[in-house]
Amino acid sequence: VGGHPKPQDGPMKVAGVKRIIAIGSGKGGVGKSTVSSNLAVALAKQGKKVGLLDADIYGPSQPRMMGIQKRPASPDGKTIIPLHSHGVTLMSIGFMLDPDKAVVWRGPMLMGALQQMLTQVQWGELDVLLVDLPPGTGDVQLTLCQKTELTGAVIVSTPQDVALLDARKALDMFKTLKTPVLGMIENMSTYICPNCSHEEQIFGHGGVAEEAKKLGVPLLGALPIDLDTRLAGDAGTPVAAGTGSVADAYARMAQGFIQ
Ligand code: ADP
Repeated sequence: VGGHPKPQDGPMKVAGVKRIIAIGSGKGGVGKSTVSSNLAVALAKQGKKVGLLDADIYGPSQPRMMGIQKRPASPDGKTIIPLHSHGVTLMSIGFMLDPDKAVVWRGPMLMGALQQMLTQVQWGELDVLLVDLPPGTGDVQLTLCQKTELTGAVIVSTPQDVALLDARKALDMFKTLKTPVLGMIENMSTYICPNCSHEEQIFGHGGVAEEAKKLGVPLLGALPIDLDTRLAGDAGTPVAAGTGSVADAYARMAQGFIQ
């Protein structure tokens, strides 16, 4: 953003945070934010200290999905005290904005907001900070990968070809930026009718598993299309906070997620 890179422009760490893992997707609407919030809650339930940074600057969903919307305090006027919900330490640009107003920002403002949320928030001691990225391969992803010491990135996709096509692009971007891809997650992989138990492959099935195999990255989990997942997200209590087969699936995914 103008000027020459200075030595301090190298990848930065966030004090007290052991791992930073970005969660990305090629396309929007594949469930990246849903998976991020549920994974965070599942990790917290297993006793991990988890932070969730909602970096989806244009459409922050975490205030709604995590069921909390208020302006975080800044007693010293410099640092920000994050919020807490379902055992997760949380920061979202959505806490600072009017939820009904569109964000019309240029690149440099985006970078500023992202860096502030990383460095000026009092994250405290965390085993992992999950970063819910905007979809695609734009400025936010670039800044985050280049300026932050990321442990790696996870890509969420549906099994549908159009989503996979874009997921491949996201994967390619992370490779170019030398951010390790830790794995892929298949969301909306199957639908089981609650009335007759018939299983329907609405967006196809197994496409992400195949793609992950082809690309040589692990498949970290597969999650069904599930009405409770959607209802729970809208109600601000992620499905992983409760019990049932989807909560179990998130618990299994969380188990091996960080060592
Ligand atoms: P993204 O972050 O990729 O844009 P979201 O997480 O906002 O996607 O999800 C888009 C919509 O799909 C939301 O309404 C969400 O509740 C719903 N959704 C996501 N995953 C599932 C799922 N596995 N089953 C049912 N609905 C889901």
